[in-house]
Amino acid sequence: MSKITKTIKIDDKDLFGENIFRVMAGPCAVESRDQILYTADKLSKLGIEIFRAGTFKPRVDPETYQGAREQGLIWLAEARKDFGLKIITETTDLSNFDLVEEYSDIIQIGAKAMYNPALLTKAGKSSKAVLLKRHFGATVDEYLKMLKYITKEGNNSVILCERGIRTFETSSRFTLDLCGGAVIQERTDFPLVIDPSHSMGHSYGVPKLSRAAVAFGAGGLLIEVHHDPKNALCDSQQALNIDEFAKLYKEMKAIGETMGITVK
Ligand code: PEP
Ligand code: MN
Repeated sequence: MSKITKTIKIDDKDLFGENIFRVMAGPCAVESRDQILYTADKLSKLGIEIFRAGTFKPRVDPETYQGAREQGLIWLAEARKDFGLKIITETTDLSNFDLVEEYSDIIQIGAKAMYNPALLTKAGKSSKAVLLKRHFGATVDEYLKMLKYITKEGNNSVILCERGIRTFETSSRFTLDLCGGAVIQERTDFPLVIDPSHSMGHSYGVPKLSRAAVAFGAGGLLIEVHHDPKNALCDSQQALNIDEFAKLYKEMKAIGETMGITVK
């Protein structure tokens, strides 16, 4: 018998919880003010309430785009104000934690930082909600142990995220571990969202994984949407364009309806 999913409230609004499938959408990275405001406008018109975009990017290759950094937070704040969106954005380490905390509604701790006890402890002391991604090399046990660095400090507004693990398979970027997802849901009552973009790594598979995530009973999606994927500065292969996302969002709503789940 599965558990009742914990409700995560932001500004007194239930954003995650039982029978809610919450879609957090936006580009991988903040690239420019125009890009952020254009995309935020389009997504909010579709009904999206939580906008994702990283401005401190933990790239593997230091020669690649590293994000708009502090300036990006200011553009995200503009998107929040203009379109009434909540913002999820990533902190990569303690050097940018305070800034990200100040500007975000949900603090994202990415896969690579999942093993950073100091960062998780700091997030545990925050009054903001935290989304903790599973590292691609972490077992479910390790992931749930690291989660305790946050909860033991008193922060129970946590969203978990399965974003793919590394396996022998190299044709997709990672392997979405839905078995691990089911174990996580069995062992915790925190909402578990799926990241179809980083797990698949190719846009053609992203709608399939996203529809499956609704049927799976996940708590939502963290998905990359770019107004011009070919020219995205980061993760261009895996981003849906706005029309592709709009179609998918409708399909997910229809699947949710058959299950008594509200896709928002
Ligand atoms: C991201 O969501 O932009 C990201 C960097 O993902 P991950 O931490 O899963 O690699
Ligand atoms: Mn990305």
